[in-house]
Amino acid sequence: MVTVNPEFVMEAQRNAPFRECINQAVLVVADGMGIVWATRFVGNPTPERVTGTDALPEVARRCAAKGYRLYLLGAAPGVAEAAAARLQEIAPGLQIAGTYAGSPAPVEEDEIIERIRAASADIVCVAYGAPAQELWIYRNLARLPVAVAIGVGGAFDFLSGRQLRAPGFMRQVGLEWLYRLYREPRRWRRMLALPQFAVLVFLKGRKTV
Ligand code: UDP
Repeated sequence: MVTVNPEFVMEAQRNAPFRECINQAVLVVADGMGIVWATRFVGNPTPERVTGTDALPEVARRCAAKGYRLYLLGAAPGVAEAAAARLQEIAPGLQIAGTYAGSPAPVEEDEIIERIRAASADIVCVAYGAPAQELWIYRNLARLPVAVAIGVGGAFDFLSGRQLRAPGFMRQVGLEWLYRLYREPRRWRRMLALPQFAVLVFLKGRKTV
């Protein structure tokens, strides 16, 4: 599962392997109002925005109900553990198969796959940021011993409380990106993708659907 935002789309224009990850995914959801707007603009509207941070509690509830075991991979040391504890509050009975920070470096892959295998996980959530997490999942898909793999970006940071999420009203009016820029100004360069994405949709959008 891939949660696509405008930065993903712009990265995919120049990064062919990343483009393939998105196009091969079984489930692609709109993580960002920019994507929701673009799908409306091109006349093929997606019903709503679904971020990794919003999807994870829902995934956790389903896992708890069905007895599926969730593995949380990525983020800074200790963050996945805190996010796991929060998810167990949200979804009582949730079985956490394991947590591990690790890194998306290829040299660590064998060890990480072995950890996930030993933990008998059913679903793995990978928080290495885009595009590293999607590329990591795609590279390892064939030998990943899970049914579902999801790239969740900063979801563990938000769930654990390490990062504050935008207030509800800002999320509702599509300004979560602005709040994130205020909290993490280093993201400004990445966010240049937003106006570039809007121009791309205006110029090419109607022709492709
Ligand atoms: N991250 C990591 N290892 C890395 C790079 C990033 O664990 O080598 C984690 C980082 O700690 C954060 C998560 O990846 O928890 C997502 O980062 P970011 O918010 O930049 O992701 P985005 O959703 O914007 O792609």
